[in-house]
Amino acid sequence: PTGSGSRPATSGSRPAASSAKGNSSKADGKRDYDKPWLPPPKKEKKKADTFLEHVYPDGEGPDADLIKMLERDVVSKNPNVHFDDIAELDDAKRVLQEAVVLPLLMPDYFRGIRRPWKGVCLFGPPGTGKTMLAKAVATMGKTTFFNVSASSLASKWRGETEKLVRILFEMARFYAPSTVFIDEVDSVASKRGGGDHESSKKMKTEFFIQMDGVSSEAASEPTEETKDDPIKNVMVLAATNRPWDLDEAMIRRLEKRIYIPLPEEEGRKVLFEINLKNTQLDNDIDWDALVEKTKGYSGADINNLCREAALMPMRRKILGKRMDMQEIADMKSEFEVPLCMEDFVDALKNVKTSVGTQFLKEYKDWMAEFGSV
Ligand code: ADP
Repeated sequence: PTGSGSRPATSGSRPAASSAKGNSSKADGKRDYDKPWLPPPKKEKKKADTFLEHVYPDGEGPDADLIKMLERDVVSKNPNVHFDDIAELDDAKRVLQEAVVLPLLMPDYFRGIRRPWKGVCLFGPPGTGKTMLAKAVATMGKTTFFNVSASSLASKWRGETEKLVRILFEMARFYAPSTVFIDEVDSVASKRGGGDHESSKKMKTEFFIQMDGVSSEAASEPTEETKDDPIKNVMVLAATNRPWDLDEAMIRRLEKRIYIPLPEEEGRKVLFEINLKNTQLDNDIDWDALVEKTKGYSGADINNLCREAALMPMRRKILGKRMDMQEIADMKSEFEVPLCMEDFVDALKNVKTSVGTQFLKEYKDWMAEFGSV
């Protein structure tokens, strides 16, 4: 017997030097683990695929539910929106490219004095493309996208919001590079804070700690020891329709503040094109008139208008007739006709602008005082 009973009979001699490179495998490709002269196989620690697995390898633990909810409702691996899908807003796109996308693509350049802004705030009327811009930035920077609706998280996880924010940012670092988009940021950090709930105060404080944390890494100049460490880039983007409600500490952290206004004439024209690019259209449509009639409409309003118009051929055919659902469904081919001007004129009666003109001045005033572009 030669010690280990399973050792092969030929194990007495070392492999020749020339074959040393392949000495961890046999001719049949299988590794011969029990040869005593071979180093033990390296225990390769597999990086967990999900944050849940990273924290709880067995999938269960005290915060597992919270983590699962975040993975399900908040994380998106590829939001797949592109700047071309977004009408106008060229200034905002340019600033976002420099302030968020480039730092994500070349983190080592954006260090020290060139460190990225702690947070970027998109403000303006609802439905003007703020969420789309954030998704496009995440797509271009090849990042994991965290879509956080501040108000809905706060109400769903009342009492645990502080922990929630901490875990959220830990997750963002795990999946880095990441873009954390905080929609309705005014509901986290409102200056009308007098009657604030204790838990929402804690949530706000935790947000500040985390935002300060993600930016301090980039702010430090790399040392000899840290120069090769990958930077866990996490960019914070926030959006609000009510910038005037933001408290000062949040405004200070959202260092770049970009106004996302209602679309101008040219923008509305492009919005019609984007929304109707796969739709058959009649030649009678007077686009200039539609652009004129939709003054004051947001991108979301124009999207609604086009969807309404697209249903008009069906509605007209069944109007005033008593038909059951199956009869209507059987007529489908009759509804598939090009949209005409009348469809849009009818749709305009149903879809009005959703943004009150009184707010437009308030946005401009806030822009003048706090805005960046
Ligand atoms: P916000 O975040 O500003 O409230 P969103 O980005 O969620 O608005 O936009 C809502 C919808 O309105 C989008 O899904 C899109 O259909 C449309 N929309 C708004 N602005 C634009 C735009 N500039 N270009 C293209 N579509 C837009």
